Amino acid sequence: MRGRSGERVRVNGLALRRLPGHSAPVFADRGFCVMTSRCPPHRLALSRRAVLAGSAALVAARPCAAGSAAGSVTRSATGPVDKPRSFAATHGSAPFDSRHLIPGASLDLARINPAAAGARVVALTIDDGPDANDRRILDLLKRHEARATFFCIGRKITGAAVPIATAIAESGNEVGSHSHTHPMMSDLSATEQERNLSRANAALAAVGVRPRWFRPPFGDFDDTTTALATALGMQTVLWTIDSQDWKNTPAATIAARVTDRLAPGAVVLMHSTKAETVKALPTILEAGHRKGFRFVTLTDWWAAMAAAQPA
Ligand SMILES: [Zn+2]
Repeated sequence: MRGRSGERVRVNGLALRRLPGHSAPVFADRGFCVMTSRCPPHRLALSRRAVLAGSAALVAARPCAAGSAAGSVTRSATGPVDKPRSFAATHGSAPFDSRHLIPGASLDLARINPAAAGARVVALTIDDGPDANDRRILDLLKRHEARATFFCIGRKITGAAVPIATAIAESGNEVGSHSHTHPMMSDLSATEQERNLSRANAALAAVGVRPRWFRPPFGDFDDTTTALATALGMQTVLWTIDSQDWKNTPAATIAARVTDRLAPGAVVLMHSTKAETVKALPTILEAGHRKGFRFVTLTDWWAAMAAAQPA
């Protein structure tokens, strides 16, 4: 993003800036590029449809190869100084360094003893609910004697979604916070972050949930985020396997991506909002069980990981 910034446009509500010097439309937003599959400077292909699908496209957006490096501060001629981004926000999906899984914690999956009793656990995390798909997901989990953690968006817990959130909370699965409005947390001031997280927790409290875990939208956070989450009794957690279901991936591809990568202590990122995710779940659960994995809540996963750490 050196030099002048280009034309400003809005795509599906996103304020984007077209960058000069690319063979396909490339739009810079928040310090990194949202790119199309036809732009050679970028290795990660994102379809125009994904961009048009809105902010989900930003999950895997990587720093512009022609501009900023991950975590660097960038400046445009007309825009504000962009803040440094967290690892997940700038790198997107796997390969994922497990040191970033629990920001600020000493857990390192690379050091756990995979042969330890109980180490063969996997934490499925299902973001962006409550959603109408969640009832089917709950049924599938029950049928396969599996548990998961649902990261709910506070402001979605309203109307017909209230009984869904209640059903999740009462099902023996875990419910975490996915913020109130699904923002890039590091775009917010400390006061705004505090308000966002507190409102989410109030919405969750209304359905009987006091969350222990916080999943930052887009994997984006800063030190303020993690400190606020801690103050609210939550541990910030990212993931080790991105199912990429948010790309409107077919069920078979989602299932293969996840099952091929299952490992002791894996944390899988999935989304309630995708029908293909629901279709992929039975395959994932069956394959996991065949490989000797148990699917557990994040709280049970955390206990298993602590027990499997070297003394
Ligand atoms: Zn999300």
